Parts: sequence; structure tokens; C-alpha cells
Amino acid sequence: MDYWSGEKFVAATGNSGKLAEIRALAGERGIEVLAQSKFAVPEVEEIASTFVENAILKAREAARYSGLPALADDSGLEVDFLRGAPGVRSARYAGSGATDQANNDKLLRAMEAVAEPRRGARFRCVMVFLRHPEDPSPLIGQGVWEGRILSQSRGSGGFGYDSVFWVPEMACSAAELSASDKNRFSHRGQALRAVFRQLLDGEPSSAD
Ligand code: IMP
Repeated sequence: MDYWSGEKFVAATGNSGKLAEIRALAGERGIEVLAQSKFAVPEVEEIASTFVENAILKAREAARYSGLPALADDSGLEVDFLRGAPGVRSARYAGSGATDQANNDKLLRAMEAVAEPRRGARFRCVMVFLRHPEDPSPLIGQGVWEGRILSQSRGSGGFGYDSVFWVPEMACSAAELSASDKNRFSHRGQALRAVFRQLLDGEPSSAD
């Protein structure tokens, strides 16, 4: 594959939780993941209305500043009762620069009076891999993780909305899963494995 040494790429994220999950899965494939903080990549404004466009914007900037292939994810939580919100605005649900705690508190309040059958939700992730900043055929992987919104936080692992997201197949919150179990089920794990199948196993890409 052109431009891809098979050894390392930069991950276009400033979120340490995401970085740890990406590193763990890439490590299983023998790939080194460099943080974009090593290359002073400026923060990209996530101005697009779709996950895939935002991921491409982030990957392109990271590839440009690092001179390396770049992987970016854009992800978020869609809550049925909130008609898919917070969605692409998940990181900023309680305002720009909001903490995970503030976002979770706002969500728990919004869902306070909502009965169990209407608490369905899912995490969605789109992962984009660019071999170089002008790569015209990005590799794209997607993942969806179905669950429910809890009525109070549980667990201390993970990041973001993990402590309010109930995982039916494991009967616990996402914040109560081990890192490897989370990667086994999660939207990010699914999306990253889909990219690796195209990148490393010769699976046809969406651009082929
Ligand atoms: P972005 O992809 O940088 O726009 O941020 C996505 C936001 O969605 C994160 O800041 C979290 O609030 C939320 N999110 C995405 N993936 C996860 C996850 O695996 N667990 C919990 N929250 C997540």
C-alpha cells in the first residue's frame, strides 16, 4: 500500500481515553501510535454536521503537521428520547469545553423522568485513515454500540459518557468494563478493526 510503512501512524485526538483505546488495538497489530501532541497539531474546529466529515478534517490536519499517515475518529452518543442528541455535539453537550461530569449531569437531568422503555441509546464511531494529507481515498470504518441510559452513574473506568451507558450484553455500565472488554464491544473497537482489515488484511475499502 502506497505511503504506508506498516509501522506507525499519528492518532488525531487530544482525548487520552480515545488514545489509550486506539493504542491497545493497534498494539495487537504491531503498530505504534503516536500522539498528535508530539507534533503541535492545532485543534480542529469540528464544524461539519456528519461524523465522517469531522473525522476527515481531524485526520487531514494531523497528517499535514506530522508528515505521517493519520487516523482520526469522530464519535458520539445518540439518545433516542433526545432524537439522536447529543450526537456530533457529544463533547460539547453542556457547553464548549464542558467536562465529562458536566455532560453526564446534563444528560441524567434530561432523562430524569424518562421511563425504562424509552431510554435506548447508542455510541457511534467513524474512523478515518489518511495515508497523507491529500489522500483522495480515505479508509473508513464504522461502529455502533447499542445500550441504554442509566438513571445514575456507575463505575469509574473509561471516559466521557461511559458511566451512564448500560451495556446489556455484559450487564454493567461501560465504565465497569475492563479496557479490553470495552474494546471488544465498543463502537471504537468495531470501527478500528474495520479500518485495520482494509489496511492490513487486504479487505476492499469503501473507496475501491
Ligand atoms: P469527538 O469525537 O472528539 O467529537 O468527541 C466525542 C465525544 O463523545 C467524547 O468527548 C465523549 O463525550 C463521547 N464519546 C465518544 N466515545 C465515547 C466512549 O467510548 N465512551 C464515552 N463517551 C464517548
